[in-house]
Amino acid sequence: METTFSRERLLFEQSQCNEINHIDVQQFVNRLSKLAEIGKTETGGISRFPYTDEYEEVTNLFKSWIQTAGLEVREDAIGNIIAKYEGQNPDLPVVMTGSHLDTVPNGGAFDGVLGCLSSLTAIESYIKENKRPLRSIELVVFVDEEGSRFNHGLFGSRAIVGEVSEKDLAKYSDDAGISLIDAMKKQGYNPEDISSVYRNINDIHAFLELHIEQGKILEYENKDIGVVTGIVGLTRRTFTFYGSTDHAGSTPMNMRKDTVAAAAELISGVEKLPSNFSDTAVATVGKMNVYPNGTNVIAGKTEVTVDMRDISEDTIVKLEEAITELANKIARERSLELDIQSGDIISPVLMAEEIKQMIKDSSEQHQLSYREMPSGAGHDAMNMGRYVPTGMIFVPSHEGKSHSPREWTSLSDCLNGIQVLKETLYQLASR
Ligand SMILES: [Zn+2]
Repeated sequence: METTFSRERLLFEQSQCNEINHIDVQQFVNRLSKLAEIGKTETGGISRFPYTDEYEEVTNLFKSWIQTAGLEVREDAIGNIIAKYEGQNPDLPVVMTGSHLDTVPNGGAFDGVLGCLSSLTAIESYIKENKRPLRSIELVVFVDEEGSRFNHGLFGSRAIVGEVSEKDLAKYSDDAGISLIDAMKKQGYNPEDISSVYRNINDIHAFLELHIEQGKILEYENKDIGVVTGIVGLTRRTFTFYGSTDHAGSTPMNMRKDTVAAAAELISGVEKLPSNFSDTAVATVGKMNVYPNGTNVIAGKTEVTVDMRDISEDTIVKLEEAITELANKIARERSLELDIQSGDIISPVLMAEEIKQMIKDSSEQHQLSYREMPSGAGHDAMNMGRYVPTGMIFVPSHEGKSHSPREWTSLSDCLNGIQVLKETLYQLASR
């Protein structure tokens, strides 16, 4: 049987401790469990898409917790939630922290949620400790991070940094044909005021996000904390081999121009190439179209799309060149025609060195092990990181499962992350 989110499992893990370092563990468990109930699916996952009643329910609940903590909370014109814990000098640029509360279809209980809850929990613990940093801390819940409904993710953060115009908004609609603008209006937002969402970048000192790893590395290496080096860049290239469509029975092996065989050669080559360039580079063929795609037909045309990612743009370019060279060689040797379509390169976004160091120092202070690692997935920190010094903290994902009802991070791993976030955030707001 598959295990999905369960409050009982968390309570079991809660053991004896109700409070560590002014972090209210029981409250954290209760909140995580409550959020997991909203948008719950039959298979134990969660579906919470932006500008729906489920999303309104989850944000209302979260806003009520912010208010209980004594912070003023506002929503901008498109639904980003922003709350401020005022610092000793409210005129200084603020430190922002937070994540998202929307999910992929049938997603998990930790993706995004953990970051939002952790940021709030950290602020509440400063309040308990009567600690007020120099700079104000702004808690932010970005709207529509996943892009599940309008196929346009990282939306809230993109708008905050000023990269969404009113014209852009008009481009998107969901599968039911409801436009993004109508969906926003229905929930009471004002898309025509999009420019009021833009923040003056000079008013933001830094951004920090805690997130689950969504991969297996931390668990596999038994490390508590991932110090994110950056969010990988990516590009895609589609290689189309043209050969000859012939009968699978009557065409001898030496008289074929088989494009599937060429594609197979390319795919197995793609698997071997990334390690020639870096430890972090990855290349994947997840999509292939075979024409005419019949069991008894030698395919005359096959399209192979290669997705290439790394933390270094230079590596992405070199990898792309090597894969292209391989495809050309295969086509030449097999006397096939080859067409190549290149996608744009989305540049990697590096995290700030000094924030990485603060995350390491905070981990050491709490006797937590850590390793540096890139994030293969996109996050709002990617948009923020292009404009302001940004840091990301990862905590382990059990079996690397994410975007699935089986997503799980143990309570102790969640608490480790909260401690490191709490410490790092305070340091950032104190400098
Ligand atoms: Zn996420």
